[in-house]
Amino acid sequence: MDEEDIPLKIGLIESEIYELTRKREELTRRINRLKSQKDELQANYNLKKSLEVDETLTNVDYAWSKNAQKVLEEKFNLKSFRTQQLAAINATLSKKDLLLLMPTGGGKTLCYQLPAVIDKGMTLVVSPLIALMQDQLINLRKLGINAMSMSSTTDKDAKKAGFQYMSKGIGPDLKLMYVTPEWLAKSKTFMSSLQKLHERGKLDRIAIDEVHCCSQWGHDFRPDYKYLGLLKGMFKDVPIIGLTATATTSVLLDIQNMLDIPGCTILRAPFDRHNLNFKVVSKPDKSDDCYDYLEKLLTKTFKDQSGIIYTATIKDSSEIMKGLRARNIKALSYHADLEEEVKTLTHTKWLESKIQVVVATVAFGMGIDKPDVRFVIHYSIPKSMETLYQESGRAGRDGKDAQCIVMFKLSDYMKNSGYARSKVEVKNAFSVLEYCLSLKHCRHYLIGLHFEEMEIRRCNSMCDNCKKATKENNHLQDYDVADANVDIHKLITTSMQGDKNLTVAKLVDVWLKPTVKIRKPGISKQQAEDIIGHLLIKKCLTEEKNYTPYSVNCYLRCGMTPESVVISMVSDKSLDKYLKIVSTDKKRQLDGSDDDCVVVIAGEKPCTSNNKKTKR
Ligand code: ADP
Ligand code: MG
Repeated sequence: MDEEDIPLKIGLIESEIYELTRKREELTRRINRLKSQKDELQANYNLKKSLEVDETLTNVDYAWSKNAQKVLEEKFNLKSFRTQQLAAINATLSKKDLLLLMPTGGGKTLCYQLPAVIDKGMTLVVSPLIALMQDQLINLRKLGINAMSMSSTTDKDAKKAGFQYMSKGIGPDLKLMYVTPEWLAKSKTFMSSLQKLHERGKLDRIAIDEVHCCSQWGHDFRPDYKYLGLLKGMFKDVPIIGLTATATTSVLLDIQNMLDIPGCTILRAPFDRHNLNFKVVSKPDKSDDCYDYLEKLLTKTFKDQSGIIYTATIKDSSEIMKGLRARNIKALSYHADLEEEVKTLTHTKWLESKIQVVVATVAFGMGIDKPDVRFVIHYSIPKSMETLYQESGRAGRDGKDAQCIVMFKLSDYMKNSGYARSKVEVKNAFSVLEYCLSLKHCRHYLIGLHFEEMEIRRCNSMCDNCKKATKENNHLQDYDVADANVDIHKLITTSMQGDKNLTVAKLVDVWLKPTVKIRKPGISKQQAEDIIGHLLIKKCLTEEKNYTPYSVNCYLRCGMTPESVVISMVSDKSLDKYLKIVSTDKKRQLDGSDDDCVVVIAGEKPCTSNNKKTKR
């Protein structure tokens, strides 16, 4: 080869390398796309399989069936199984891995405690809170079932006895061992004893309570739950039973993955709680007005009845308590900063109905089991639909009607969104905003929709939206707010040019008394806030976080400006004057509904489209 030809040759090789690299990258991309397609298909296939109904699980001719009924009656003093309890018990006794979804208060505990009594060995129970474990231990002791818990606070002798039983079988048979995931992840002695128990053939099953804490997609993610993913590898033949009240498809898939039990059986108990009456009210601006509202509820509607008020911060929880006590209401606060004894005392007083209401943060949480809670009020909107559902679910465990009221103010949503630390949390806060602003649909339907409930039942006036639909003066009207949106954008832009940022409250102020040239709305403050809320939902407005050393401020920014933005609000003269009315068919059918769903007709009774009487 001539020397002059070499650079040319190199050039040719380089371009061939370039071309091949490009092709390789393209192929890698295609492979990755196919891989994720395959994973998604596989996951959905697994999930479908998991959810397939296995009729045999409700059979009563298993080897243990007679004994199970006997233990139910004689040991647990219960008459019959509730929906899905028998299937869950049969599944775990047949050594199947299982995820059990049951609403709060549905009776998940029995599904691992009863099998623990029937089997010869020990059931390991992973539970996220020490208080929860203690509650259960007290109950088990009353029933004469031998159980213990282990955590960093357990005393030495008790630990030693537990280890001796597990590794050598010394001492009385231990039916249930409760541990926190932190303890499991930390204690090597515990793990080695557990391995020995397994070698002796005495590790019957692993129950994981509040199993949604495994998933980053859930609302309660706990890093230590990750460690539980190793258990299946260590104890292949030991069935896992995971229990939770709330899990959407993505969370379920994530849990199956995390626990290494893909495609395991999933049992879902009916999720909707028919006896809960859901309602959203506008929250007044001033605390005193809020307390007056609560006073009226607690002394009239809920006179002599028990309930919980949930709020976002510790400060709020003590202030509301003070506000209520000043109005002669027996209230105590409950939050993470209180001493353990104070917490227990408050809880006990409430259980014994010596106080009417606990004003609590999320700390007053899992494991609360008072049957006659007649109301749960959210003083500030919850951070996610999961929290809303779970906290509301503490009402009406006795099956009698109870009310779940959310006090909604847009700025509370802005706070939740401002303090959100991940995309998931932002999305969670957003779904609650949508729930609160929705007037068109049955609240039971909206909640069911969020949790992908397969079978959505009819609410029969057990929510404010369905109830309002029966009232003459509560017609809903569709309005086009596109022009208002443009005006609002103008206000935001002008303020930003003047170096001023607008929060919701400030925007409402400048909008209702505009100094910039826009049309004067002539609507109420509440209506203005609701429109802004809807514009956030429609992405016509967006939020921007601004951090100060003490807090996070959430400012409004301009979003999209579509030609028309239709929202539904309660029909009203001032709105009619200011906004374009979109003429619509008055019949409103629930989204995605078929023949069998509720139809909410403004101005008429909610009814089913096949006109049958609704049943609850
Ligand atoms: P969760 O699903 O929230 O964990 P629990 O297991 O704490 O619910 O049960 C809630 C309540 O229901 C408890 O008081 C329990 O005794 C009661 N319960 C559970 N199973 C039954 C049953 N089969 N019959 C009657 N009551 C039951
Ligand atoms: Mg429970």
